[in-house]
Amino acid sequence: MLTQRLTFAVVIVVAGCMAQTTEPSGTPDMKVAAAPAKVFKWKMVTTWPKNYPVLGTAPERFAKAVNEMSNGRLQIKVFGAGEIVPALEVFDAVSRGTVQMGHGVAYYWKGKVPEAQWFAAVPFGFTAREVNGWLHYGGGLALWREVYKPHGIIPFAGGNSGTQMGGWFNKEVNSLADIQGLKMRIPGLGGEIFKRAGGVPVLLPGSEIFTALQTGAIDATEWVGPYNDLAFGLHKAAKYYYSPGWHEPGPILELMVNEKAYNTLPDDLQAIVKYGARYSNQDMLDEYTARNIEALEKLVGEHDVQLRTFPPDVMKRFRELAAEVMKDERDRSELGKRIYDSFMKFKAGSRAYFQVAEDAYGEVR
Ligand code: CA
Repeated sequence: MLTQRLTFAVVIVVAGCMAQTTEPSGTPDMKVAAAPAKVFKWKMVTTWPKNYPVLGTAPERFAKAVNEMSNGRLQIKVFGAGEIVPALEVFDAVSRGTVQMGHGVAYYWKGKVPEAQWFAAVPFGFTAREVNGWLHYGGGLALWREVYKPHGIIPFAGGNSGTQMGGWFNKEVNSLADIQGLKMRIPGLGGEIFKRAGGVPVLLPGSEIFTALQTGAIDATEWVGPYNDLAFGLHKAAKYYYSPGWHEPGPILELMVNEKAYNTLPDDLQAIVKYGARYSNQDMLDEYTARNIEALEKLVGEHDVQLRTFPPDVMKRFRELAAEVMKDERDRSELGKRIYDSFMKFKAGSRAYFQVAEDAYGEVR
């Protein structure tokens, strides 16, 4: 044992010496070039409360990674919603250059940029894996850049929640008849589809969902998935937990960079932002995967939550209406049409592939 320890100590000493002897061996030129590096101090505003689980902590983690990779040459300070600008003004703040970066979801900007809807959550659209394939290797990101270009913003995929849950219901949904007049908190394109199917979509910020459900002001709500839903205590306000999250099968979170600010960065810092976004995009999905597994176990095992799946006739009707709604989005502009074509072409291919790959495996595991 003593011998082993001594050997270990010797190895440490030798390694230490080697490190010391290799360091000064750089060329004289390198020493001349070692002027103090310019430090960039950026601000990032988000649509989330400061440090909100995953959605708010992911941009903080991105900033930390960028700081480490750049050895402190690019420092990004993250601000929660309302600290510099309200949540729904994040896009404008980045566009104007009030701040250099923003973190949010593209469907918040649909009033200014209708095509942004394609880069957030498309009902019956892509899962996280599919959307990342489309964005990074199927032409999707180039189209997104085109959408934001007139606003002086460069978008990056900056996270994904994975397939969300269908939501919390106080009554079982056994057929389309049960949707008629049902008041549900469900935003965006999913809400539009729900409305066309006879439901009553209600818009509420996350902070008001629990009370609205508990008091009966709404009959149902969607939020995110087991981890965030458990944190809000939604299982205390409704009995049935439905899947799948047809309305948000793989929603993209976004990192936005002011184009002028990006162009002032030297090449290596631009690369750190670019690859840092790829890290952040995957890291959020990984965290959601692990946390959702634990949270679903708790919901079912400790809180006796009743899991349900939507009946086939409801899913069929929602799917038909989703096709209509997405055609309406297509017809908004020439760019909308190009995005639609690219999206649907990739989706047809990915559907065929996943049927024989992960879907097939899901049936037999
Ligand atoms: Ca949601």
